[in-house]
Amino acid sequence: MHAQLTLRPGRERSLLRRHPWVYANAIARVEGAPARGETVRVVSADGRFLAWAAYSPASTIRARAWTFTEAQRVDAAWVEARLAQAIARRATLVQGTDAVRLVFGEADLLPGLVVDRYRDQLVLQFLAAGVEAWRDTVVDALPRLTGCRKLYERSDATAREREGLSPREGPLAGDTPSAPVEIDELGVRYAVDVIGGHKTGFYIDQRDNRALVAAHAAGRRVLNCFCYSGGFSIAALKGGAESALSIDSSGPALEYARLNQRLNGLGQLPGDRCEWLEDNVFDALKRLAAEGRSYDLIVLDPPKFASSIHHVDRAARAYKEINLKALRLLAPGGLLFTFSCSGAIDVDLFQKIVAGAVFDAGVDAQMLRRLQAGDDHPMLMTHPEGEYLKGLMLIRL
Ligand code: SAH
Repeated sequence: MHAQLTLRPGRERSLLRRHPWVYANAIARVEGAPARGETVRVVSADGRFLAWAAYSPASTIRARAWTFTEAQRVDAAWVEARLAQAIARRATLVQGTDAVRLVFGEADLLPGLVVDRYRDQLVLQFLAAGVEAWRDTVVDALPRLTGCRKLYERSDATAREREGLSPREGPLAGDTPSAPVEIDELGVRYAVDVIGGHKTGFYIDQRDNRALVAAHAAGRRVLNCFCYSGGFSIAALKGGAESALSIDSSGPALEYARLNQRLNGLGQLPGDRCEWLEDNVFDALKRLAAEGRSYDLIVLDPPKFASSIHHVDRAARAYKEINLKALRLLAPGGLLFTFSCSGAIDVDLFQKIVAGAVFDAGVDAQMLRRLQAGDDHPMLMTHPEGEYLKGLMLIRL
């Protein structure tokens, strides 16, 4: 007998629309004392079957649906099949790189699980109680499904904390990587710090946008703000950029950026053609404006300014400020690639913020494209919360 969650009247609607989350306040009754991560049956107030879901007693998202099909058994073979399908989808969608997100949580119907592949190294995140309960199955299946025998865990501690799980990092199979993992993304080489880097080591989600920047970089003076390990800058220089000034507040990130410069045969570039600046972008933009500098291609890819819906106003002001400052540094005919990875700021709001910055800067600009994460970072249509990275490509008139 499975434990059972009975929802309050009316609270079945989201599950009926195949949205996978059950909030704690939607639940009227829990029967059968389910353990953390246990598969529970979720039923409506009038007893109708809604979903099989993973129970997470400490989280406001009290359960995450595995399947809406009553006849489906959630077992190891089923988990492995979903992994296999997620991996198989990428095979035709993402090519020319050995850095790929193989599994992206809810979007791949595996809530809370992230698997990134960097060449022959997998990096995993177990971010929900449900998938934590299937940890051994996942770790056992992935080498078989991918051919990769090195698995390293980089679970985000805050996400785990929300689920009542203790932090975990370290090797799951094979040794701890002793050196950066070198990847080749569309002909550009990057060293990835899977142990100490951001996320799982690299911003895989920006692949298409790095390629787009590279395609427009020839002959341009590039300014890359929040450059991390230099992804956009190196891609732009390989694409023929005249120069690249890259700014980040993290010294270790800039060490990787310099390494990436050398890896791509750009080590000989003089300092004024490839400059790495350790600074706060807000201050640096002010200074560059005071010095009367201008650029032909600017990338703004800041960290998540809004960590939740409660911080939207403050975040909006920060986005506005950097976009305004960047636009003032952009020469006529110059391109701005501006991003937000805050899930709480949607595409429409972001566009409005940037439009406000254009207006305040007193310039005319066209929107050439809306930008998003690559195809290996999909959004499940019934789970719009999964959409996070959005961007705009503008040209100043
Ligand atoms: N564009 C990068 C990813 C950027 S992640 C890429 O494609 O790889 C955000 C980066 O912003 C991090 O490297 C972080 O160190 C840096 N950062 C955060 N706040 C900053 C600030 N106020 N000034 C400069 N850098 C900042």
